[in-house]
Amino acid sequence: MSRKKIRKIDADDQGIAMLSDSSHNDNELNYVLGSHSNQRNYTTLNRDDIEQRREDDINTITNSLSISRAAAIILLCHYNWSVSKSCDKWFDDEENIRKSLGLLEVPVPLPTVNELRCLICFKYYPRDEMSAPACGHPFCSKCWTAHIRTTFRSGLGCLKLRCPNQLCGVAVGEDMINALTSPEDKENYGRYLCRSFIEDSRKRKWCPGPGCNNAVEFTVGSGSNDVLCDCSHSFCWKCMGEAHRPVGCNIVSRWFLKIHADSENMNRIFVKEKPCPACKRPVEWNQGSIAIRCPAPCKYQFCWSCLRAWSFHGDKHFDFRLCNKYQPSKQISEYGVTNECRGMAEDSVERYSHYYYRWATNESCRKRALANLQQMRAVHREKSIIDAWLQIVECRQVLKWTYVYGYYFAEQVSANMQQIFEDVRGRAEYNLEELHQYAELELKKYLEGHGPSMGLNMLRDKLIRLTGLTGRLFKNLIHAIEHDEADDISCMATSSATS
Ligand SMILES: [Zn+2]
Ligand SMILES: [Zn+2]
Ligand SMILES: [Zn+2]
Ligand SMILES: [Zn+2]
Ligand SMILES: [Zn+2]
Ligand SMILES: [Zn+2]
Repeated sequence: MSRKKIRKIDADDQGIAMLSDSSHNDNELNYVLGSHSNQRNYTTLNRDDIEQRREDDINTITNSLSISRAAAIILLCHYNWSVSKSCDKWFDDEENIRKSLGLLEVPVPLPTVNELRCLICFKYYPRDEMSAPACGHPFCSKCWTAHIRTTFRSGLGCLKLRCPNQLCGVAVGEDMINALTSPEDKENYGRYLCRSFIEDSRKRKWCPGPGCNNAVEFTVGSGSNDVLCDCSHSFCWKCMGEAHRPVGCNIVSRWFLKIHADSENMNRIFVKEKPCPACKRPVEWNQGSIAIRCPAPCKYQFCWSCLRAWSFHGDKHFDFRLCNKYQPSKQISEYGVTNECRGMAEDSVERYSHYYYRWATNESCRKRALANLQQMRAVHREKSIIDAWLQIVECRQVLKWTYVYGYYFAEQVSANMQQIFEDVRGRAEYNLEELHQYAELELKKYLEGHGPSMGLNMLRDKLIRLTGLTGRLFKNLIHAIEHDEADDISCMATSSATS
């Protein structure tokens, strides 16, 4: 996104009121991970799409190079299913490619005799019971079956099958496999072809989502690495772990190593019950938003992260700064020594707990939102509602990783920059909480069998407004961190201070 664009967006975000309903259509929704935007740089492929694309690519090669289908498959497999590379290389040096892949231009016919000797078992068989690749080396059907079975055991290697005569090297393609093997092996060959089309290609990968059979085709070198599959699983194209914008893959692996090493301590701070700050009774956190209400009769609403009154955060976004900023404790101990002096070690545990806690809390929020998204998809197909839940899932993911950014980088920038960053995040977070609370409330009503609390049109409008605004704020946040440009950040902070 260009700097000009950012300034324009900020001008638009002076207040929700400015976003008139007519200013929104599907194309304008600001999905944070680009999952549904018109500029997304990947396509999700289901089984049928995969087959269709593979067949299209094979047909392109057979038509443009005038070679057999079997030869086209061998060529494409060799060049990682890149159509353009296969064509370029073929036109550059057809002769050498034919030699190295074992693709003869003119097949050698079997001699016209009544009986032929199999070159593996050395037995004689009638000519029409023998088969040979383009090289004309004849083998009996028993030996063929054994040869093909062996190569099938090597997995994708069966796509590079050659003549059983070790000195020969002529290719054995799909046509021979189909003619010589059982229906079961034919099916296996088709499966390997499908796997090779994804796994050997540089621009396609399987979605790592649990139980998902989709693949993703990605425009390599096109900016964001985050992918959201149609199964709702989001992942990083580069490291194949979960999506982690705005921090890089190396920071993510550092963080996971750290939390793995400290898991015992950290499990202790991540509790499911806390005493209500007003009535002191234990309250369980079992929702997506961190704005929690103590059950009746108390009904006190407070922040699950910092235990302050929710109204303290509710007064626009500014007070999220205090909720989320790490402040080393500086109380004077009984010996007149500040906690800071108790040594770096203790402070660093406290600091780490602060960031870890917020990272883990947002992960819980995200998981619950994902469950709600799936629930909502089942009961209601209204686009604005589904879009809102998708947005919540994506923003929780981003917010979660901004705490890891904070842990590793917050102290490397100036205090002024830190404060500006916290403002931008505070504002994004405030709007996300508002959207999440609202969506949860409406979902509850649906699941309880009441319709929307207001007319469907009003509900839709409010959701679209909140979804769009939250998306824009998160995009700004990501941009600020990824580009680390002081003036972009201050420009956003100025805009947030005036709204
Ligand atoms: Zn034989
Ligand atoms: Zn041969
Ligand atoms: Zn998937
Ligand atoms: Zn990654
Ligand atoms: Zn209470
Ligand atoms: Zn708080």
